[in-house]
Amino acid sequence: NTAFSMALLVVVFAIYRNDIGRRLRLERELARAVRKGEFEVHYQPQLLSNGAITGAEALVRWRHPSGTLLAPDSFIPVAEDSALICDLGLEVLRQGCETLNDWSRDPATRGLKLAVNVSPMQLLDDEFLAAGAALIRSSGINPGLLELELTESALSADATLVASRMTAFEKMGVTWALDDFGTGYSSLSTLRALPVRKLKIDRRFVDEAVKQEGARRLLGKIVEISQVMGMDALAEGVETTEQRDLLVSLGCTHFQGYLFARPMPGSAFRQWLVEHQS
Ligand code: C2E
Ligand code: CA
Ligand code: CA
Ligand code: CA
Repeated sequence: NTAFSMALLVVVFAIYRNDIGRRLRLERELARAVRKGEFEVHYQPQLLSNGAITGAEALVRWRHPSGTLLAPDSFIPVAEDSALICDLGLEVLRQGCETLNDWSRDPATRGLKLAVNVSPMQLLDDEFLAAGAALIRSSGINPGLLELELTESALSADATLVASRMTAFEKMGVTWALDDFGTGYSSLSTLRALPVRKLKIDRRFVDEAVKQEGARRLLGKIVEISQVMGMDALAEGVETTEQRDLLVSLGCTHFQGYLFARPMPGSAFRQWLVEHQS
């Protein structure tokens, strides 16, 4: 009946408006947080099978004025829905370059690579290439030590534009890794045409492979694809020695996960490194 439908409509609209309000508030807060420098970057080590550290991935956190440290999943999606991801992404890149400079002056960290996440929105933004390139150049880092990570799902956007942007960064000496590999829908021919040096195998594959024969064979094939394409394979989310051993037996060469270390602030990362290497 009509009265009921009207009531339902009112309720649905109220919920909708509330959600919109929440997002708008968060967007406003994020814009302020970028200006106030409330974002900090944590570092999670990446290793070879012999335990040698190759570098780290930069993972952003929000040091909220309330005192809590917010995980990226709670604000990156909102930032991606607005232009804020571009400012936030540049801020992470800026801090990343600063870190690479610090690392180059310290014998304990010299030569380590740093991987920085680039949101698909960011790569498609018209200003990111110029701003990012200027940042990298003026920072004075060795661009060969900077790796940019792009999620595989980005390739389903404007593939030609994505490819040209990636190539422009590659020409500066920066390398690319394809993040969450296996969860997107990129074709192998698209992938082959892109300047990608490393495939980051999504942790779902790693997780399932130790439990199930079919998943184990699939993981093996993913590693083979990386080898055939001349790319490094990095397994994400390695949590157990069983997972690591399986990955090694399948030919995977690069590793990252809680088994080795969680993401940590820069100072803790350096200390971990010194202890790990002794
Ligand atoms: P991601 O790029 O796939 O990063 C890996 C995530 O897996 C990180 O979560 C990391 O802490 C977590 N992780 C690492 N090892 C393990 C493990 O062994 N087990 C489990 N269960 N998880 C593990 P985090 O830091 O919460 O980041 C979540 C996502 O937020 C990232 O996923 C990335 O998509 C996004 N993100 C983080 N920092 C940035 C950034 O600076 N820019 C952009 N655009 N996105 C970012
Ligand atoms: Ca990543
Ligand atoms: Ca990932
Ligand atoms: Ca992810």
